[in-house]
Amino acid sequence: MVRWILLFILLLIIGRLFWRMVDGIIEAAGGTPRSRRAPTRRPAVRLVRDPVCGTHVAPATALSLAADGTTHYFCSEKCRAEFKKRR
Ligand SMILES: [Zn+2]
Repeated sequence: MVRWILLFILLLIIGRLFWRMVDGIIEAAGGTPRSRRAPTRRPAVRLVRDPVCGTHVAPATALSLAADGTTHYFCSEKCRAEFKKRR
């Protein structure tokens, strides 16, 4: 009985080492190891939607307006004025 438990533990250790080795091979090949792969893909530049005209704008360059606890971004002063008018 004890022998079976020892065998089981040994198999667990071998299995773990095996997967670590596989991860190392994948990493060496330029891929992302399965344990460190990010679940979501994000674009390099995050874009936000102008709530008035629907244009996607970069927050860094867009006009902004803080309202309702969040910040809204607009493509132009015209859209920002329109948004203020609607509220
Ligand atoms: Zn706009």
